[in-house]
Amino acid sequence: MLNIALPWLEQPLRDALQRARSHALLVQGPAGVGQLEFALQLALGWLCEVGDGRQPGCGQCASCRLFASGTHPDFQLLLPEALEPLREALGLPVDEEGSRSSKSKTAKPSREIKVEAVRALLSFAQSTSARGRAKVAVIFPAEALNGVAANALLKTLEEPSGLLRFALASHDSASLLPTIRSRCQPVPLGLPAREAALPWLAARGVEGAEGLLAATGGRPQQVLEWAEAGQTDAAWQALPKRIARGEVQALADWLPARSIDALQRLCHDLLRRLHGQKPQFFDAAALPVLRRAAPLLSWETELRRAARHADHPLNTGLWTEALVARAQAAFAAAK
Ligand SMILES: [Zn+2]
Repeated sequence: MLNIALPWLEQPLRDALQRARSHALLVQGPAGVGQLEFALQLALGWLCEVGDGRQPGCGQCASCRLFASGTHPDFQLLLPEALEPLREALGLPVDEEGSRSSKSKTAKPSREIKVEAVRALLSFAQSTSARGRAKVAVIFPAEALNGVAANALLKTLEEPSGLLRFALASHDSASLLPTIRSRCQPVPLGLPAREAALPWLAARGVEGAEGLLAATGGRPQQVLEWAEAGQTDAAWQALPKRIARGEVQALADWLPARSIDALQRLCHDLLRRLHGQKPQFFDAAALPVLRRAAPLLSWETELRRAARHADHPLNTGLWTEALVARAQAAFAAAK
């Protein structure tokens, strides 16, 4: 079943459909708030055969039903190989051809959208619309287009044939080629209101959702991901004190990038607390009171540097130990 409805997207979706002036929209904003779902909902609305393409999809007409079954002839979704599993999560059928053509099951799936995929999209773009309503290509995340792929897309993005429309979505629109950005009408998507996010999380069985929502900076989809990976509010709030004690176990089950990310949030909050501001990601009671900013600032710089290499530590165990030891030293020096 199609799973792309998120309560906090309803109003922004209606607004975007009403205000669309360009054949290409660029949905941009933070990760974890439903950008891909939003882009898919735009496609559904444009293809729906009931309204004038300026309303959300009705969900009932032949076009909406084809979309939901994943067999709409006028729709294409472009994802990097590494994100192909999203299709299943969204209730779209898995692209058998796509998974067959990937070179090897053992190779690490690519995080880039490659030029071959864009070429396939362009041949879709040149064909006539099967149902005569529109043809829609969704590209997510747009920053995954590598340089060659982005260049291959430019001309079609600028002068699309006939009924072709694009919905691009990006977490990092600053890193897009300016030529891609300038050809799209921007649709900023902000963080959802807590009142919309909390019931959605509660309905999915997430406990302590309020604390985790703060921990993720207000991103409900990230909360769900964390909860599914076993993260709890209690464990999150215990993290600062465990790190201060030098407990490597506190980060043992985490991927390197997530460990760094958590420590960056911790450092950020320690600095806020030290300057008399309300912490953003942790409960104030979870944070030790520190007095000196300088050691935290140099720790922050080191974390930023480490974040750039967090994808491939040679030995994750040793790397995590060093990370925790460094954090503990920063805590001690900032006392
Ligand atoms: Zn419809």
